[in-house]
Amino acid sequence: MRIDLHTHSNRSDGTESPSELIRSAAAAGLDVVALTDHDTTDGWHDAHLAAAEAGVTFVPGVEISTRLRGVGVHVLAYYVDPANPLLSVELERIRADRRDRLQRIVASLKSAGVAIRMDDVLKHAESADSVGRPHVADALVAMGHVRNRTEAFATWLAEGRAGYVAKYAPETSRAVRMIHAAGGVAVLAHPWGRVSRRVLDRGQIAALVVHGLDGLEVDHADHDDEHRRGLRAVAEDLGLVVTGSSDYHGTGKIDHPLGLNTTAPAQWERLSSLAILDDDQRVQGA
Ligand code: AMP
Ligand code: FE
Ligand code: FE
Ligand code: ZN
Repeated sequence: MRIDLHTHSNRSDGTESPSELIRSAAAAGLDVVALTDHDTTDGWHDAHLAAAEAGVTFVPGVEISTRLRGVGVHVLAYYVDPANPLLSVELERIRADRRDRLQRIVASLKSAGVAIRMDDVLKHAESADSVGRPHVADALVAMGHVRNRTEAFATWLAEGRAGYVAKYAPETSRAVRMIHAAGGVAVLAHPWGRVSRRVLDRGQIAALVVHGLDGLEVDHADHDDEHRRGLRAVAEDLGLVVTGSSDYHGTGKIDHPLGLNTTAPAQWERLSSLAILDDDQRVQGA
């Protein structure tokens, strides 16, 4: 059984529609796939229908942008009730700030001498419920300013660059509590990836366990072998579920094909058994 618990559609910064993504997952030989768009559950309905047709088990998820000591930390929430008032209002708040921030990014780029307008960016975000830097990157590529998303981040959009603008995000601990209150389970996405590594030492992870953290995404492209060994030891120590996934973004992120990393069936069973409702009940609330 092949299980991939972290993918993005064009409802956030992936390039395939939710149903296309599910069909790609089936073609890639996956049996279980989670859709985890940034800060939105908008793709669940279509993905769920497509999964039933393709004979794939769909896991409803969302990758929530959070903040710990001022550093961005991504939390994967699975099986949450999308209609939960606290969670849905918080996700809407994040998305609203993402929309405002797009204007601020465009203004910063203009000040830095880049000829770009809001319309240029919005053209690349037509299917997105959650907009972000990758859509600005796509505009910069289309306009010939850079060759690809990676170069757009390196030159203009990464922290410290002229087009970087921070976004609103709830505290990580509060997000974890909110996920539980909404009946779901919480897994730290790529905890030792480029950004969050700065704050997520063993002590901070242990502190999050007190708030209800359930798992760590250990097998992820951002982690080298040493990170994976270290994180696996932390997970074992703290009794956390270990996941592995691709963080697929369609053609929006190179070297992240579906099934690049997978989650062991026993770990997925443990994770889903910690959630309150089953998949079908969740999606019906969406
Ligand atoms: P945002 O949530 O708007 O701040 O944008 C963050 C997203 O941009 C991440 O989820 C990644 O998908 C993407 N991203 C971050 N850094 C890079 C990079 N160096 N190259 C390409 N995509 C990136
Ligand atoms: Fe992304
Ligand atoms: Fe992430
Ligand atoms: Zn992701």
